[in-house]
Amino acid sequence: MTTSDLFDDLPRLNKDVVFTPTRAAGLAQLETFVSRMGDHYTAQRNYDLGAQDRSTASALSPWIRHRLITEEEVLTRALARHSPSAASKFVQEVFWRGYFKGWLEQHPSVWKAFRHDLRLAYARLENDEVLKHDYTDATEGRSGIACFDHWVNELVQTGYLHNHARMWFASIWIFSLRLPWQLGADFFMQHLLDGDPASNTLSWRWVGGLHTKGKTYLARASNIAKYTGGRFNPEGQLAGLAIALEELEEHPFVPLPLPSTAPQSKTLRLITEEDCYPEIGAIQSDAPVLRVFTPMPEQSEQVRAFKQAALQDTEVLSSANWAACVIEAAQAAGTREVITAHAPVGPTATHLAQAKPLLEREGITLHQQMRAYDCLTWPHANKGFFKLKKQIPKILAQLDLKP
Ligand SMILES: Cc1cc2nc3c(=O)[nH]c(=O)nc-3n(C[C@H](O)[C@H](O)[C@H](O)COP(=O)(O)OP(=O)(O)OC[C@H]3O[C@@H](n4cnc5c(N)ncnc54)[C@H](O)[C@@H]3O)c2cc1C
Repeated sequence: MTTSDLFDDLPRLNKDVVFTPTRAAGLAQLETFVSRMGDHYTAQRNYDLGAQDRSTASALSPWIRHRLITEEEVLTRALARHSPSAASKFVQEVFWRGYFKGWLEQHPSVWKAFRHDLRLAYARLENDEVLKHDYTDATEGRSGIACFDHWVNELVQTGYLHNHARMWFASIWIFSLRLPWQLGADFFMQHLLDGDPASNTLSWRWVGGLHTKGKTYLARASNIAKYTGGRFNPEGQLAGLAIALEELEEHPFVPLPLPSTAPQSKTLRLITEEDCYPEIGAIQSDAPVLRVFTPMPEQSEQVRAFKQAALQDTEVLSSANWAACVIEAAQAAGTREVITAHAPVGPTATHLAQAKPLLEREGITLHQQMRAYDCLTWPHANKGFFKLKKQIPKILAQLDLKP
């Protein structure tokens, strides 16, 4: 049985959207939603109507996250169907992903600090009975706050939450349940099909007041009641105040990588979960392919299976195997040049950084190719989102994405 078969057998909890990990399914969802990317999205996007009705947002994130479909493709369809002003809200939201990716790329110590502090938080759990009890209640849907408990179950079962539910969830986790934000961010990474080192870590930091320093997001019962269509109203159960989290560590700016050198001869294409279809707009080549994948230890079976199927049922490797596997495949292909899509900050980038010197020892060069979209977007993602937002029309023109 392949992992794709496994997905066919999953309970169809999202009546509207089944997150099948193929490019074809992503393109089909794109076509389903394209008529709603204009005024409908602008008016409805904040409403979370639950897993039975995903009509208010595109639900494209699991496919975009793994680049089974690309931001460029999504923007092209939005602007072909709607006027620039009607599509502007949707277009901006798509650019939020590029903003977070570019920002983390230029502040990589945030990811390192998150992983470090997460290990400390898990160690604390072992020694602090009260914390362990509260954490277990929260992650098993027994916090006593009905909406929160519902979102825990929705997340675990479907691998997805609406953006507004993610904001409320993170806010309740940090300010009402007073749990360490790193454990909440990791709970999302374990279960979200679109779990992304940049969008997830930086969104949690944004809610907690660490991204835009001192500015927090406070979930309010009236807002939840309105935007869940009256399904929930946690009146009297939520914190009334959100005091910004603080951290001692500074996160210095690091320049973006220089463009990678181009391979001189025959290559091997290395495909990772960061960009499952680099041949769509990034790496024009029909060279032999090697797909590599190592799940993060804590990832849910649903997330692991999504990624593995997105990589066309590639074998799961232990992290130590990457260099050996690439060397073997390069030798079999008769080449010393390997090309891959640039892996942004996160576990894949770490695996590649560890493999690179071992490849070099064998005389194999690893070229990491950045997509035009990232090259144009990321340089504007080093401060607040507004700086990038101002550049959107120019970037769209540079990408030749005209209505
Ligand atoms: C606490 C928290 C954690 C999050 N974790 C993740 C994550 O791990 N992975 C992830 O892809 N997004 C994350 N987001 C951002 C956002 O919630 C999701 O991208 C969005 O809900 C996906 O649903 P959609 O495809 O229907 O979005 P739509 O509203 O239809 O937007 C279209 C696309 O634009 C991008 N996008 C939209 N809003 C955002 C945003 N605020 N930030 C970044 N990209 C955005 C996504 O690629 C999305 O698929 C998080 C947000 C919060 C508040």
